[in-house]
Amino acid sequence: MEHTSDTVNEGKLIGENTYTDRAAKYTELQLDGVKIDYYDAKNKVVHEIKKSDKMEAAHEAQVKYYLYKLKQHGVEGMTGVLEYPTLRHTSQIMLTDDDVQSIQKWEGDIMEIISREEMPGVIDKPVCKRCSYFEFCYC
Ligand code: SF4
Repeated sequence: MEHTSDTVNEGKLIGENTYTDRAAKYTELQLDGVKIDYYDAKNKVVHEIKKSDKMEAAHEAQVKYYLYKLKQHGVEGMTGVLEYPTLRHTSQIMLTDDDVQSIQKWEGDIMEIISREEMPGVIDKPVCKRCSYFEFCYC
């Protein structure tokens, strides 16, 4: 649903206007339904820019998932960088063996959910307002 999300588009716009030379330096990569906006193959770094004014575990999980997907495709030694232009902050992200186990559990949970006859109900939490699936779930 990300292509219809104003939040995602706004984040992309902030990224493009904050780091103007980025599109020329890095590649966009699509892999197993995952789209990495800024992939630096030369330095083995995945960059993810967030418009948010606070750091969230979900941001870290997103970058770790990118690193996991790359590892599955034989790309070893990648690291991630989460960038928060509004906070003027960057975080280094590494994928550990524990992370790989957690991600495999998330994938198992997702497979279990999507194999259900009934879709789960909305969770009705504040996070829903910023979720790419908001219209899908609530309209
Ligand atoms: S809007 Fe997002 S977070 Fe809320 S119930 Fe739907 S999928 Fe879950």
